[in-house]
Amino acid sequence: MTKNQFELEYEEKIRNNIKKVKDVINSTTNENVNVMAVTKNIKAEFVNVAIKEGIKLIGENRVQELVEKYDKYEKDEVKIHFIGHLQTNKVKKIINLVDCIESVDSLKLALTISKYAEKLKKTIPIFLEINIGKEEQKFGFNPEEILENLNIISKMPNIKVNGLMTVPPKKNVVQSFKEMNRIYVDISNKKMDNVTMKFLSMGMSEDFKEAIIYGANIVRIGRLFFN
Ligand SMILES: *Cc1c(COP(=O)(O)O)cnc(C)c1O
Repeated sequence: MTKNQFELEYEEKIRNNIKKVKDVINSTTNENVNVMAVTKNIKAEFVNVAIKEGIKLIGENRVQELVEKYDKYEKDEVKIHFIGHLQTNKVKKIINLVDCIESVDSLKLALTISKYAEKLKKTIPIFLEINIGKEEQKFGFNPEEILENLNIISKMPNIKVNGLMTVPPKKNVVQSFKEMNRIYVDISNKKMDNVTMKFLSMGMSEDFKEAIIYGANIVRIGRLFFN
């Protein structure tokens, strides 16, 4: 398949966008930050351009889109995280396709993942999504109830909690990142079975720099790579 001029230029743009973001990250921190490419609405062939440019983590929002694109990804050295709201009846469709589900936003979802993982005799890494701004329209655990929920989830078989994820309210980004950092550190200092705080996933195209300052080690970039 020969590529047209538009496609070639778009590919070049993706490569440049990735270089720019990596430069910004390297000038912000010496810590290791995992740069996720968020692939919603982007064709697999262009996601593969990001992979060739060194992206090792991709983020999927939608079950159907992931199922359709999965086989087309050049994913030998790539991890796939699910980051969108996941209905419990869709868990079985993706549980074998992803390396981690970041968007666990209810006990019911955690329990469903646990049950499928048990059937598959696998342990599935999950993150808990926190609705840090307590916004009505957003999913995620209330920050004040995170510890009691974590206590229950830590006892579910075949899942392990490896981090926290959030999408902050636009009006209150920095305060939200600060608050997430506090919760992350607080949980890190507790000893709970199957709970290890390895990843703090926050920061997107508009605010990834601020997120890194407050300890994010996964930033989720969509538009800045692919627009
Ligand atoms: C779309 C999306 C992103 C990426 O957002 P951009 O602003 O395009 O960088 C990150 N996280 C989640 C959960 C998303 O849905």
